[in-house]
Amino acid sequence: MTKQAVHPSINLKLCKKCTICINICPEKVLEPDESGLPLAIRPDKCTACGLCTTHCPDFAIEIMPVPDSGLYDNDNTK
Ligand code: SF4
Ligand code: SF4
Repeated sequence: MTKQAVHPSINLKLCKKCTICINICPEKVLEPDESGLPLAIRPDKCTACGLCTTHCPDFAIEIMPVPDSGLYDNDNTK
């Protein structure tokens, strides 16, 4: 029963700082930084539920596997 290591990844060029992802995350993974951009302050709490990604109006947030978690292929280095 291994928990998959994931974390939200925000595309800073697409993010409009609407805070939807911050408010919808049931695990309180995200908080705004001083400029209002979402910051993953508790990435280890992310359950990959997908709520943040499906509710982002700008497609600016993805859930990514954490490097060295065993989820990367060997050739995933580009
Ligand atoms: S996938 Fe779910 S738990 Fe993870 S940051 Fe997004 S809303 Fe929060
Ligand atoms: S929902 Fe999308 S656009 Fe809004 S703050 Fe989150 S990442 Fe940025």
